[in-house]
Amino acid sequence: MTYEAAADIGIGSKASVTRSALLERSAVIDLDAVRHNVRQFVAIASPASVMAVVKADAYGHGAVQVARAALDAGAAWLGVAHISEALALRAAGVDAPLLAWLHTRESNFQAAVAAGVDVGISGWELDAVVAAAREQERPARVHLKVDTGLGRNGCTIEDWDQLVGQAMDYQDQGLLRVVGIFSHLAVADEPHRPETDEQLTVFREAIAMAEDAGVDTEVRHIANTPATLSRPDSHFDLVRVGLGVYGLSPFEGATSADLGLHPAMTVRTLLSNCKKVPEGQGVSYGLNYRTTGESTLGLVPLGYADGVPRIATGGPVRVNGTNYPVVGRIAMDQMVIDLGPMTVEDANALKGAEAVMFGDGADGGPTADDWAAAASTNNYEIVTRISSRVPRSYVNELATGPAAPAGAVDAETAAL
Ligand SMILES: *Cc1c(COP(=O)(O)O)cnc(C)c1O
Repeated sequence: MTYEAAADIGIGSKASVTRSALLERSAVIDLDAVRHNVRQFVAIASPASVMAVVKADAYGHGAVQVARAALDAGAAWLGVAHISEALALRAAGVDAPLLAWLHTRESNFQAAVAAGVDVGISGWELDAVVAAAREQERPARVHLKVDTGLGRNGCTIEDWDQLVGQAMDYQDQGLLRVVGIFSHLAVADEPHRPETDEQLTVFREAIAMAEDAGVDTEVRHIANTPATLSRPDSHFDLVRVGLGVYGLSPFEGATSADLGLHPAMTVRTLLSNCKKVPEGQGVSYGLNYRTTGESTLGLVPLGYADGVPRIATGGPVRVNGTNYPVVGRIAMDQMVIDLGPMTVEDANALKGAEAVMFGDGADGGPTADDWAAAASTNNYEIVTRISSRVPRSYVNELATGPAAPAGAVDAETAAL
């Protein structure tokens, strides 16, 4: 992402304000990368369908824009955690099948039924959804969730028969339709672990029990991104892909490129300052870092208020084709890189230079994976926590071609 590319984005009435904010700092989302990734998963999952998981504002990428791009590229479903997230998509005119799975007593089941949002049901929600269906005089669409081992949401296998029976009673009364049966995996990102097999076994049992009780689902689904990539036997009718849509790898030992995925988010800004300093110059709060010789410090105007983890000292920032580790403490608004010795003229020339925190990793540029390592977390958290102080901008918003048919897959991924 270049300075010029960010400037090219069309931005409406508040143009000058918005434009300068985008130039100062932005998370640039490449929707062609999103489409590419979705096409990969459509091919990998086929004949199963793909649900693009766009919860948490599409892992920080922008739910509405990502949803549209994912549907363009062949995703058949969208998934979110909260009903409120689903309603925001409906309000933006997104009318694809859409599932929300995490509720409380305050969740707006009425609005979900009215908007044709499918609701995940682990137990108590069943009566709440049926009450909403009665009120709306419209059958609810539900997916029954079984806990196959994750220990979070989902009905225990002990209570499963009862939940299925109740749901079928309500279906017979025309109050709901059981559209799906689903579960969620705990360790699919560690393909050698045996628990995934155990969860799949329990899932198959739960499906068999439901079928015995007369359930006739459209979709059975359990696979997330890592299971979609590593466990074809987990695909069933539908795979729920989040991380992979954004081009990131769920596996410790594999990069995005290894998986044929294109990271969609670039977080970039401009250096606020660049100055020569003497040997022994302390840097940032605590003075935990001191220059070991005469050097040059670059000031990057991104900090923990922007979603840079405070713990991530050492994370790389790219300036002028070189990655420099952040030195000293990361502050609320800013962090510092040590660019090494240079002339006053060169230091001055770098004032205002573009600084990339992470991007697609092409040409050795920094990645969300690098920042995850620096912060002892995962790449999910790095992209999702880029805060609203960093304006999102979009490139390649319009699809350039038709969605690839299932089976058409890039050579780089075909080898997997
Ligand atoms: C977030 C989530 C997913 C997507 O997981 P990824 O690892 O990002 O693919 C799928 N299913 C459920 C229930 C989730 O909460």
